[in-house]
Amino acid sequence: ERKRSMATEGHQKVVLIGDGVVGSAYAFSVIQQGLAEELVIINKSNERSVGDALDLEDATPFTAPVKVKAGSYQDCKDADIITICAGAAQKPGETRLKLVERNLKIMKEIVQEVVNTGFNGIFLIAANPVDILTYAVQKISGFPAHKVIGSGTSLDSARLRVAIGKKLAIDPRDVHVDMLAEHGDSEFAAYSCGTIGGTPLMDYVLANGLTKQELLKLEEQVRNKAYEIINRKGATYYGVATALARITKAILYDQNTVLPVSAYLDGEYGEKDIYLGTPAVIDKDGIQKVVELPLDSREQEALINSASVLRETTANGMTKAGLLNYLWK
Ligand code: NAD
Repeated sequence: ERKRSMATEGHQKVVLIGDGVVGSAYAFSVIQQGLAEELVIINKSNERSVGDALDLEDATPFTAPVKVKAGSYQDCKDADIITICAGAAQKPGETRLKLVERNLKIMKEIVQEVVNTGFNGIFLIAANPVDILTYAVQKISGFPAHKVIGSGTSLDSARLRVAIGKKLAIDPRDVHVDMLAEHGDSEFAAYSCGTIGGTPLMDYVLANGLTKQELLKLEEQVRNKAYEIINRKGATYYGVATALARITKAILYDQNTVLPVSAYLDGEYGEKDIYLGTPAVIDKDGIQKVVELPLDSREQEALINSASVLRETTANGMTKAGLLNYLWK
């Protein structure tokens, strides 16, 4: 395998495909944090990506000398990470699963272009429904599963940590708990595995005045937070963009960071050949290891249900998008 370029070893290159509001916010995050040495932006409309590159380079004197430009698929060949934010987004009231057929077609087109360049890095997928598109990218590319990662429930877990942190007046970075399974309506909070300050989350929370009912209400609010934001401002992007930047950093700096992402399961949680949200260790080669949480019975049931929702939508979507030959292979 090609030697990967690391922070300590030289050139690091990220290619963003899909420069809409999510992609653009991700690019800003990469520039703000000086994560890569080179950022290339590919979009359907070149005017948008050229404009964004010109705008973003003006931030670099204040942050880090990241080279940023609008590019083409040829730029993917020697990239470390391809981040895909291309595709239709939810309209007010629309579920993520509704986007499946449209976005699978876009994903197929993009992945074939990228693979044809000889790209040998890591795919990071954000477009929705993210678990299904990540699965499709792995199947279409033929890449090893550890090199294809979805943003999964990274955003949703951040939302849960914020919600609990606000209720208990605790720094959200010190609230350790994840949303699991589909990045979407069948996701759930793995409360039984959470901790705060080394204390089981349930014990801490109940001792500090929150009830189980209130926790379940917070879980529901997290599930619906995207709808709330989309109803108010048309799209969500800062949260997911920062989650994507965090995953990017864990890869480029080989950090072995445990993050909730959409990861390929091969027997974990009793599930096989599926991508869904779970904590995983992220290093320079992508997913080093899936961390299987010891779920309680409510959570286990929710995971099985979520996996079956994803499987059914994957089968329907891939059939309609003409991708049946890639299914369950
Ligand atoms: P948007 O409409 O603002 O941007 C989509 C961009 O994709 C546009 O710039 C469009 O030109 C580009 N595009 C479409 N087809 C393309 C192709 N074939 N090649 C290159 N570029 C192409 O949408 P958005 O709000 O930025 O959302 C993008 C995706 O991210 C959606 O699918 C949305 O649901 C998803 N999203 C994911 C999360 C998450 O947590 N994973 C959060 C928010 C949004």
